[in-house]
Amino acid sequence: MRRANHDKVTPPNVVPCSNCSAPSLPHRVCPACGYYGGKAVAQVAEKA
Ligand SMILES: [Zn+2]
Repeated sequence: MRRANHDKVTPPNVVPCSNCSAPSLPHRVCPACGYYGGKAVAQVAEKA
């Protein structure tokens, strides 16, 4: 393996959440609202 590309870092691939439009990782539960696939799959502490 050559070292020409060893210092390059893969940019984080983020997609807007379908529920809250917050940037989140694809195929991951949204860290902002806990939605994934159109439904809440994780409970996120909301500021009341
Ligand atoms: Zn969200």
